[in-house]
Amino acid sequence: MQTAKPLLRLERLSKSYGGVVALHDVSLDIPANEFFALLGPSGCGKSTLMRLVAGFETPDSGRIQLDGVDITHLPPHLRPVNMMFQSYALFPHMSVAQNIAFGLEQEGRRRADIAMRVADMLRLVQMGDMGQRRPDQLSGGQKQRVALARALVKNPRLLLLDEPLAALDRKLRHETQFELMQLQRETGTSFIVVTHDQDEAMVMATRMAVMRAGAIDQVGAPRQVYEEPATRHVAGFVGETNFFEGRVLQFMPGGVSIQTRQGLELEAACREPPPLGTRVTISVRPEHVRLGSVGIFATNGGAGEIVDHVFREGFSTWRIRLESGDMVLARQPQTEAGTHWDRGARVFVSFAPESARALLR
Ligand code: ADP
Repeated sequence: MQTAKPLLRLERLSKSYGGVVALHDVSLDIPANEFFALLGPSGCGKSTLMRLVAGFETPDSGRIQLDGVDITHLPPHLRPVNMMFQSYALFPHMSVAQNIAFGLEQEGRRRADIAMRVADMLRLVQMGDMGQRRPDQLSGGQKQRVALARALVKNPRLLLLDEPLAALDRKLRHETQFELMQLQRETGTSFIVVTHDQDEAMVMATRMAVMRAGAIDQVGAPRQVYEEPATRHVAGFVGETNFFEGRVLQFMPGGVSIQTRQGLELEAACREPPPLGTRVTISVRPEHVRLGSVGIFATNGGAGEIVDHVFREGFSTWRIRLESGDMVLARQPQTEAGTHWDRGARVFVSFAPESARALLR
């Protein structure tokens, strides 16, 4: 695969605080003009990675390059990088326009240039008529726009956003996701967003890194990460999934069959099949689980009973208890033609081997 020269290159970064390892040997390339998400549970090292890129901290070892230049030990204000904080950190005694102008004034730019640039930024974030307001006269969503305008006014190569939507209510969060994506495209600045919300990352990111315990488990486009998770952690963190644990019983073309402790024999795709007898986990997404009164695929499933049914946003989700004791989630768009299964119904659950992944770790 051809790899263009990255905008940002992280090389073997490690960082500890006292005895706590926050990052361990993390390497990552981010090309220009990307909306990149760092996704992972609380405490996995996302903020530490951001702070190293922004220059608020230095790594114990490893290097950071921006446009091919080593910036590992460059102070924050000399990096063409800006950060938007979760709290927005607006100056309360200054107007919106003054807040946005602040960085340019620090650089001693000409007043006329500053005024023009501030007006451009206000237009960009759709706040054209609010330049004279103070932050306490703005809604949460408007404050966020000002914070974005302030972070972008100096045209950084890279904008870091720490949980940018956390302070907004659910509806506004959804609208703002699309605005952020548009802003990224219009400015051409690369965005790196830190989030613990997998939905947010799936919607906004062109690519994402899924982190765990100070390391990156997988990097890829959201769809690729969802459909071909590299680890059990990724499969479980990005979207809902069903897990079956067992040992490798046989090799199949492009995959393996496993036997679970409960006695199910299941087949799944596997990139690099491990030796027979190895313990693996199969992950299969709920939308790939088929329900029927007879097996749609002759093997790869089992009989069970519907325990719960939930209807949400056009999809039905069923929870099924298999005779083996395993609980399984199945999801289907609820069209009129679709079959409906009530609680207590006996069903046969199955999935196509190629829709499931056998994971080694
Ligand atoms: P995240 O942003 O994913 O929640 P952090 O990068 O904030 O994770 O933290 C990673 C790990 O490093 C955690 O165990 C956290 O407690 C620890 N940590 C982060 N900052 C400090 C600090 N200044 N002092 C001590 N420990 C820290």
